[in-house]
Amino acid sequence: MQLFTCPFCGPRDETEFQFATEAGKTRPEPAAEVSAERWAKYLYMKDNPKGPTREIWLHVTCGEFFALERDTVSHAVTGSMALGSDL
Ligand SMILES: [Zn+2]
Repeated sequence: MQLFTCPFCGPRDETEFQFATEAGKTRPEPAAEVSAERWAKYLYMKDNPKGPTREIWLHVTCGEFFALERDTVSHAVTGSMALGSDL
């Protein structure tokens, strides 16, 4: 079992959380003019970095999205914060 810290609720079991997307990913615009290939890449392709990464997660219990910094190799969580604030 691993604990993630929701910035709104505090430490909780990882089973309460769901990965949403990589942080810093921007939606291609204007969406109506984006090719199907580029749109599919935006929706489904992830960089999947090895090591420290910043991601957007959902705490399913409270319904809040937030930024989570973790290491994909060691699984260490190094920070979490509400979206729109600095980590
Ligand atoms: Zn929460």
